[in-house]
Amino acid sequence: MSPTRRLLGALALGALAAAPAAAQQYPTRPISIVVPFAAGGPTDTVSRLVAEVMGRDLGQNVVVENVGGAGGTLGANRVAQARPDGYTLLLHHIGMATTPALYRRLPYDPVNGFEPIGLITEVPMTLIARPDFPANTLAEAVAVMRQRRDQLNYANAGIGAASHLCGLLLMSRIEAAMTTVPFRGTGPAMQEILGGRVDLMCDQTTNTTEQIRARAVKVFAVTTRERVSALPDVPTAAEAGLQGLEVTIWHGLYAPRGTPAPVIQRLSQALQAALRDQRLITRFNELGTAPVAQDQATPAAHRAFWLAEIEKWRPLIQAAGQYAD
Ligand code: ASP
Repeated sequence: MSPTRRLLGALALGALAAAPAAAQQYPTRPISIVVPFAAGGPTDTVSRLVAEVMGRDLGQNVVVENVGGAGGTLGANRVAQARPDGYTLLLHHIGMATTPALYRRLPYDPVNGFEPIGLITEVPMTLIARPDFPANTLAEAVAVMRQRRDQLNYANAGIGAASHLCGLLLMSRIEAAMTTVPFRGTGPAMQEILGGRVDLMCDQTTNTTEQIRARAVKVFAVTTRERVSALPDVPTAAEAGLQGLEVTIWHGLYAPRGTPAPVIQRLSQALQAALRDQRLITRFNELGTAPVAQDQATPAAHRAFWLAEIEKWRPLIQAAGQYAD
């Protein structure tokens, strides 16, 4: 064999050996989790809790980076285009399942652009209003929404966001459309509700529980079949007389497509360890939610769940003729 061929052969072998070695040593530097919504909102809250505990398990800092806007698609695009080396991840929500049907022109592939790492939690939603909203029960609020639909505004985090889906469902159930005001996330939207500048919002308990308990906002219902233990006095929408307002919002963790399988496995182990962490469980419970079972926080289980969710939402979105672009 010529020296050149020997050298090329050695280089090829070296490259093959280097890939698993890099994966074995992973991670050797801080990891970034992109949150596709603004700081201070529910996706951000879940991400910061998970990032801190995963960082301990991985022996590296896991930092949260907020890239909000366009219903979560700006942040998702950032991750889809990132190097698939395990140092840039995405923590998103149900928008991962609605985006493929809602957006026809995206600069990334909303399904094949990612490797799922695991499901994290399923969070109830709450229908809340500014503190001086002129209603105290869901029935009164629905009457106000019907009478004053032209003057009322409803906050959301852009098309495809959880708050958007819940708002769509609400408006179709009560047959009254309100003006929607989009934000880069429901963290900033909450500030507007607290300040009385926006009327209504439907958002995850991870953003609303503390404000509800402090009576800083009004609450009319939780969107789950059962009451939420962190908010025992808040009726379900069905109990309060409105059928069909049922939505829970899941969060999952993703890496860009092409991230090596051993890296995905390591991240999934760290995620599962985080979901067993007692402080994280307690904090999730205080915020009206809980981690999913360990066997749902795996790449294979999350892929199956996520693909099923895409198929669940696609016909509903198409039938509603809803497109974001
Ligand atoms: N809860 C928001 C939504 O409506 C997003 C967020 O800020 O986490 O999807």
